[in-house]
Amino acid sequence: MNSAEQKLPNTLETLEALLRPHHETAEIETVKRAYAFAEAAHRGQKRATGEPYIVHPLATAITLAEMHLSTPIIVAGLLHDVPEDTSHTLEEIEQAFGADVSNMVSGITKLSKIKYRGIERYMENLRKMFLAMASDVRVVFIKFADSLNNLETLDALPPKKQERIALESLELYAPIANRLGMGEIKGRLEDSAFKYIQPKEYVWVKELAKTAREDKSEYLQRVIRLTKDLLKTSGIQCLDVHGRAKHLYSLYRKLLKHERNIAHVYDLIAMRVIVENVADCYAALGIIHSRWTPLKGRIKDYIAQPKPNGYRSLHTTVFCEDGEIVEFQIRTTQMHLESEYGIAAHWSYDEQKYPANGTPIRPTGETTPPQWVYELAHLQNDQQDQKRYMQSLEDLKIDVFRDRIFVFTPRGDVIDLPEESTCIDFAYAIHTDIGNTCVGSKVNEEVVPLHRVLKNGDMVEILVDKSRKSPSLDWLKFARTRHARNKIRQLSRVSISAWIKGILPGSGK
Ligand code: MN
Repeated sequence: MNSAEQKLPNTLETLEALLRPHHETAEIETVKRAYAFAEAAHRGQKRATGEPYIVHPLATAITLAEMHLSTPIIVAGLLHDVPEDTSHTLEEIEQAFGADVSNMVSGITKLSKIKYRGIERYMENLRKMFLAMASDVRVVFIKFADSLNNLETLDALPPKKQERIALESLELYAPIANRLGMGEIKGRLEDSAFKYIQPKEYVWVKELAKTAREDKSEYLQRVIRLTKDLLKTSGIQCLDVHGRAKHLYSLYRKLLKHERNIAHVYDLIAMRVIVENVADCYAALGIIHSRWTPLKGRIKDYIAQPKPNGYRSLHTTVFCEDGEIVEFQIRTTQMHLESEYGIAAHWSYDEQKYPANGTPIRPTGETTPPQWVYELAHLQNDQQDQKRYMQSLEDLKIDVFRDRIFVFTPRGDVIDLPEESTCIDFAYAIHTDIGNTCVGSKVNEEVVPLHRVLKNGDMVEILVDKSRKSPSLDWLKFARTRHARNKIRQLSRVSISAWIKGILPGSGK
């Protein structure tokens, strides 16, 4: 039931087998060409596990293929570590695979520069920075697939590195995946990280869930059969009924809320009922309720009122056979795909709905996802319209910071500044006193002049001299932020007037 457990072997054959049913031969040829390119580029390099390096980009591409993503994304997934780790350049990638692919690879390379320093209260800033730097959402999908494989091969790394990578996934990537409605990816990221962050708790929850599942397995088979029959005799086309085990980390958090008592967790295994259309969703809900009494206050209509991340389904918890409590989740196939892969479901090979150029065609009727998804998918295809695309991201409530850079203090705090900001802006952003008494600066541990322009991800340290009386008016030549400029002017004025008072006889006391 856990997708991490049924992992396919990381081979080119696996990738091909995943792609063949949905892709043209020409596309598969491009993917194979990308594989050959990456394989040659990484030849001789090894992963910490001792395997040839190519296994990693291959695993990344396989995860992307499992998400049903289109070929350019899979090609970029295969090539994602090439510019960073080999002698081959982005230009070569562009020549061989086009600008769209090389732009995605370039985006991944940029993201790898973000340093995770694990201070919780700055996570929100880091998330924003992550999204700002990944101006193309497809790059985020590749980053998730990349991280998943890194997590799955963590055993080969020293404990300190294990913890850093696991925390990065748990605190940075998983919340972003959730924000984008990618439930399956979020669950996999969290579960793989959980194992390293709280090993004892992980084992406890895993065993608990396993026992509970085994105890219930026969019972659930019975409920599945009953539900299928029930819907059939009511004339509802039921596409699938299956049990879905809760991901371990989300089960863990739920257990903590319920005195660690698994008997209080009703959705340990939820019944998924997949039907053809929205009308059937409501009909199925009615039929289930006529057979089993629902628990009060546990009926949720996420179809009429989707969750903010776009999630849609009907949920209900009932007193099922033998009085056992069971949660049902009722949805259409399209809702199901969206709930697993969220926003990524709209970059799937099912591209006829999202033509590369021109207005996307909204399918009519019940399987229509929120409008913003179409707009986003459309804008994504239209590279000319980056501005509107970024605007849509903002409408999505992902606060993308345009024209901002994010830099770190030596303690790992994140400070965001306008582009073109210098060390002096940074000094005033930290504290007026730091600005007023600053005498020098270091960027990435190297001494630099105060007028040095900062770049995303720089670590900046300000050297101060407490005996310094006031800022220098010269600093106005390179202070960019209004805040720093105001402070410099203000304080220089004060000290100039003090100085004037001092030298003009009779003008002061
Ligand atoms: Mn990688």
